[in-house]
Amino acid sequence: MPTAPGGESVTDIRGPVADGPVLVINAGSSSLKYQLVVAESGQSLATGLIERIGLADGSARHTVGGQDHVVEQEIPDHAAAFEVLNEQFAEHGPDLQSAGTVAVGHRVVHGGAQFASTVLIDDDVLATLRRLVPLAPLHNPGNIAGIETALQTFPDLPQVAVFDTAFHQSMPPAAYTYAVPLAWRQTFNIRHYGFHGTSHAYVSRRVADLLDRPLQDVNTVVLHLGNGASACAVEGGRSVDTSMGLSPLGGLVMGTRPGDLDPGLPAHLARVAGMTLPEFDHALNKESGLKALAGDSDFRQVMKRRHAGDDAAALAFDVVVHRLVRHLGALALVLGRLDAIAFTAGIGENSPELRAAVLERAGLLGVALDPAANESPDGETRISTPESVVAAFVVPTNEEWEIAREATRLLANH
Ligand code: ADP
Repeated sequence: MPTAPGGESVTDIRGPVADGPVLVINAGSSSLKYQLVVAESGQSLATGLIERIGLADGSARHTVGGQDHVVEQEIPDHAAAFEVLNEQFAEHGPDLQSAGTVAVGHRVVHGGAQFASTVLIDDDVLATLRRLVPLAPLHNPGNIAGIETALQTFPDLPQVAVFDTAFHQSMPPAAYTYAVPLAWRQTFNIRHYGFHGTSHAYVSRRVADLLDRPLQDVNTVVLHLGNGASACAVEGGRSVDTSMGLSPLGGLVMGTRPGDLDPGLPAHLARVAGMTLPEFDHALNKESGLKALAGDSDFRQVMKRRHAGDDAAALAFDVVVHRLVRHLGALALVLGRLDAIAFTAGIGENSPELRAAVLERAGLLGVALDPAANESPDGETRISTPESVVAAFVVPTNEEWEIAREATRLLANH
């Protein structure tokens, strides 16, 4: 029988997970998210969010036992953020040491081609991460600052790096190779990497459990739709293709990022508008996607405007759906046989309208939507009819648990 979330998966293909809480850290340039998670059960013992690091009006929220503990003070840098984290755990619990914390697990966005799996962090790993900064200039520096500070704060705990890109290192060369000059590929590691790997791994495993079939036998397209969004073709537990590429800009339409574009666009705008590369980079990271189409990067707000009759918001929704259908169809063909489609992350878990719009256009694949289940899913929910050839699910993602599992699995194998 498949297990409920919180239990050990019966279909895991990567070996046993040891027990014990892991402090999972997701450090950005100006924020630090953390969660103390029991690796085996997924139980969350505490969560926290420290925001506006480096600004005068920082804030920290520590949630334990359903109670929020909020501190507002200047948090000048990551070292100060970790001091606040320690104070919060000391004051409001649980005590990290007596809880038996076994490791610190860091989310790292880009692991390049160097990291195909989770690694124990040492000086060599840190040096490689620093060399990878040009591949993810907006994300990796914050991740690295978090790691450096955590190493000083918790010198006695093993610390591991879990990469968003690692799950996709199983893509075959035909899927990851860009048709660009060899020198670019060889010298600068230009290739298709993919992101959201921890989420795609977690959700595809849950889908196999929900189908009560071994992970090795299940082909799934996972649609991770949050502020950032990506689709992934998972064949028997391994990523074989995904919509994001070298950077987290490619593929689906996102909150402020455009997804796929004609590669001729930068040169064209340089010619006709004198646009510089930094301007272009900024516009594609911060001013595109839903924000460009509908004036708001938040999908919920866009939907409110669409319901109120706003034409730009209606077009934004149609563009998002069209791009999703296009990628879903392509990834289904890449898999050759499709067993399930899974929706996850903020939009995927919470927008019945978006799910219905995509699945109604995916009838060709053999999906039949169950409108009632889609309208009000309750946690992990099958939203296709029993007769549907391809099953469709809502699966709430849990990247922190996946990171905790990765950390303890690595320690168990050492
Ligand atoms: P991130 O990539 O930052 O982790 P999330 O997974 O939290 O993002 O997803 C954020 C997105 O989910 C936002 O666009 C938000 O509007 C959308 N969202 C959250 N709740 C709902 C909802 N009830 N209906 C539609 N969209 C929602």
